[in-house]
This record gives sequence, structure tokens and C-alpha cells, in this order.
Amino acid sequence: MLVRFWGTRGSIATPGPGTIRFGGNTSCVEVTTSAGDRLIFDCGTGARAMGSELMANALKPLQACILLSHTHWDHIQGFPFFAPFFLPDHEFAIYGPEGGRRSFHQVLAGQMEYAVFPVGVNQLPAAMSYHNLREGTHQIGHARVVAQYLHHPAVTPGYRVEADGVTVVYLCDHEPFADQVWRGDSAPGRLESILHEGDRRHARFMAGADLVIHDAQYTPEEYSSKRTWGHSTYEYAVELAAAAGVQRLALTHHDPAHDDAAVAEIERRAQALAERRGSRLEVFCAYEGCEVSIRPRQAGGLSISEPMLSSNRAAPSAAHVLIVDDSSDLRLLVVHGLTQDGMTVSQAGNGAEGLRLIEELHPDLVVLNLEMPQMGGMEVLRALRSKPGGTCPPVLILTAHGDESRIQACFNAGAMDYLSKPFSIPQLNARVRACLVRAGKS
Ligand SMILES: [Zn+2]
Ligand SMILES: [Zn+2]
Repeated sequence: MLVRFWGTRGSIATPGPGTIRFGGNTSCVEVTTSAGDRLIFDCGTGARAMGSELMANALKPLQACILLSHTHWDHIQGFPFFAPFFLPDHEFAIYGPEGGRRSFHQVLAGQMEYAVFPVGVNQLPAAMSYHNLREGTHQIGHARVVAQYLHHPAVTPGYRVEADGVTVVYLCDHEPFADQVWRGDSAPGRLESILHEGDRRHARFMAGADLVIHDAQYTPEEYSSKRTWGHSTYEYAVELAAAAGVQRLALTHHDPAHDDAAVAEIERRAQALAERRGSRLEVFCAYEGCEVSIRPRQAGGLSISEPMLSSNRAAPSAAHVLIVDDSSDLRLLVVHGLTQDGMTVSQAGNGAEGLRLIEELHPDLVVLNLEMPQMGGMEVLRALRSKPGGTCPPVLILTAHGDESRIQACFNAGAMDYLSKPFSIPQLNARVRACLVRAGKS
């Protein structure tokens, strides 16, 4: 398997003398398998040069699958400039996440409206097909592709590709779920030491991979002022990859404010951290033009087991969510955000009312504040659990505290996930949708 990096920059293209070494084009990674499958992760501005080279070397009509993580600009801006789309012989299957406010095809179409681009998305001469992709396992060509949601203020799957007896995992864009592992004052070392189920799941998703391509936009110092923006630190990526037994880690989605010297310093610090952990992990910062050739280490390669993933389920569109929170301001914010996202939302101002409405309305998901006077979120969870024969709706906890024992107690009491305050509404929307898909509430 050959992996080629065509764009390694995050957020916005950043050409210029300061970014010559690591590159200024945004996210685009090409994977070719020995069976001849071509999988392309994201279509940032790096896709333009990739398209030109593919055309220059094409001896026969091109076929490729493009897997979009999400439709933020830095992941789709190269799409209208990918030259092979403009010739009828070529064939492309475009995969993107289902579950956003608009389909990814509609967003691509918006990016190519007449006012901003001369050719509409449905006028492209190549044979184009569009496929909404759900969390779960998919067969694409000869490759087994597993999709799992990341933590980002948009519905964003990460992709694990298993082919040729090797595994490559693409995890862009992603932010840690919990405060725990990137502070540098504790080293998880082992998967079971990671607090948040989201981070444990994220680490398990990389398990034993030959190459993990991971968002590492910020230094730990920068991250404190960039919380909820949806990106990781190199420290988080290294800690989890080391704990997950990953062979090689390519850090990418470099911040546009980081020049080559800053990215090289991140690489140095990341390598030093991997060494301190005593892991075999090889870490580097991906650069434009970087090629990684991967051969199998063991017969058949390592597949992650199925049970950790949900089956392919339809993304929820008009789910019913109950928000239980004593703060009317926060309730209003949540109601507004989720309603805008097409959900039906009910609200309760305290735990007792929440329990009554759960009984009465049977919501698909409960968003529950952990810290409420009188009946707190934990009491509500326990009361739900103790109902004889009753079915518990999935519960997403909102909390202002990252206290480990309290959070663990929530999971033990049946919470599906938690979100730390302060959070952004796009973050909440993405988490609510991930919970609904996982719970099969479609
Ligand atoms: Zn991005
Ligand atoms: Zn993004």
C-alpha cells in the first residue's frame, strides 16, 4: 500500500516561503492498494496537484473513491479543481457523512453554484456517484473501510482502511473528548487508563495500525484557548497512538499560523514524547509530497473486531430529544441549536420533571445536566435504571466538571456519553447525532 500526502495544512491554504517544507495546501491524502484500488481522503486544495499528476500518468480511464471526512472548506475546496472530473472517461464514487443539516452533495453543489464557480456539480462530465456513509463497516473495492465518528463541530467520520494486509487510519478533524490525556501531567500508557469512553473508542479505532494520520493542529499551550474548535494536540495523538500499539503516526492538519520551524518543533516534541513513553511508535509531521510505502507485518494484517462498532444505521433526521437542565438560558440555547438541526426538542427544568417527561414522551435521547440542585443528573440516571422492566433512553450528560470519579460513575450508571461545558452548539449537534446513530434511534 502506498500513501501519498497532497495537502497537510488545516483550516485554510497557506502558501508562501514560510511553509515550503511542510506545505501550504489543505487536507488531501491518496491511498493506493496493490489490488489497484485508489482511495482519496478529503479534497482540500491539495487535490488540484493530485488531479494533474493522475491525468499526466493515466494510461487508462481513472477510477477512484473519494472519502470526505466532512465538508468544512479545508476538506472540499480542491474538489472543483480536480481535473479528472472534467473528462467523461473517468469514474468517481464520492463518499461523505450522512447526518448533517444538508447532505454533503448539497454542500458540494453550493460550493459550485454559478455565482462562485462556472461549472455546477451535476454538470461534471466524469461518471460521478454520491454515497452517504454511516458509521460502521463498508466494503469499498477490495478494501475494508470502517467509519467511526470523531469529535468535531460537524458530523465527521474517521476512516480505518484495511487492505493488502495492512491498516491505515485517517483521523481528521478531531478534538479530545476529555481533559485528561493532553495535559501532560498524566500518561495513560494503557487503553484502560483513558477516562472518557469517546477517547478509549478513538484509541481502539487505531489499534495496531501500521499508519495513523492524525489531526495535531495545536501545541498543548495553544489548545487551552482553542477548546471546542475541534482539533487535537500532538501530545494527545502520541499518547493515544502509543497506547493503541500504532507503528507510525503522521501528524497533520498543521495550523496556518505555524511556519515550517513551528511544525518542525512540534515534530521534535512529539518524537521526544514517544521516546519518553518507551513506545516503538515512529512519529513525524506529514508534509506535501510525503510518500509512505507500507508492507504487511503479519499475514492478513490486524482487523478490529466488529462488536465495538454499531452496525450501519440510518442517520437520524427528526429525532425527539429531551433537554433536562435547570438553566433556562442553556435550555433555550440547546433547543435552538437542535431545532435548527431538524430535531424535535422538549425541555424539563429539573430532574423530577425530566423523569416524568421521559415516562410520558419516550424521547429518543435525553441531554441531562449533571449538576442540578435538588435532583441531580446522577439521581435521574439511577432512577431511570431502577425502573422495573422499563427501557432507558440513551443519555448524554452535560457537565461543568471533568472529575474522573464522577464521570466514571455516570458511565457506570448507564450514561452513553458526556460533553464538558463550555461547548459549542455545532459540537453538541454532532454529539447528539452520534449518540442517536449508536443507539439505533433512526
Ligand atoms: Zn479541517
Ligand atoms: Zn473541520
